[in-house]
Amino acid sequence: MPKNTQSFLDPRSPLVLDTRELPRRPGAMRTVDRVVKAPSDLGLELIGVPEGADLRLDLRLESVSEGVLVSGTVDVPVTGECGRCLRPISDSVVVNIQELYAYAHSTTDETTDEDEIGRLQGDLIDLEPAVRDAVVLELPTNPVCRADCPGLCPECGGLLDDLPADHHHEQVDPRWAALSQLNNEGD
Ligand SMILES: [Zn+2]
Ligand SMILES: [Zn+2]
Repeated sequence: MPKNTQSFLDPRSPLVLDTRELPRRPGAMRTVDRVVKAPSDLGLELIGVPEGADLRLDLRLESVSEGVLVSGTVDVPVTGECGRCLRPISDSVVVNIQELYAYAHSTTDETTDEDEIGRLQGDLIDLEPAVRDAVVLELPTNPVCRADCPGLCPECGGLLDDLPADHHHEQVDPRWAALSQLNNEGD
């Protein structure tokens, strides 16, 4: 049964690439250099790309015999929270994209499993899954504002960065506490 080649993608969607301008001749090339808005939920729980933030696409679309090879970089701003001091983190990462999108009915299309590679839908490429994968791979699961962030004082929750180096709390050693208790009983 022939696969449905009709496009379900919205060509105006920020991470959908239109390949109509790219000749279907191996070796032909087009570049995509544009800024698009980030989709929602791009990233991890503690750090990610704010929805609507600017993503800079710097990509190369290349015709190969089996489809279109997309390679290049996406520059994404990320925000999150330091896992130690809870202060906001604001940074940017550049992720690498290299993905083959097979033509419908090409050998690659016929011989690979449904999820293994991307596929062209008509003339359109949905870049979003590839960008999501690349961003998630690049982000730390335990983000910190800087590698040597000392975090918070476990006693009072104050920022150790803002507290004097000798910051400490009077602590009664539990052994001494027990001893003084004994002394009192001996009276
Ligand atoms: Zn921190
Ligand atoms: Zn403290």
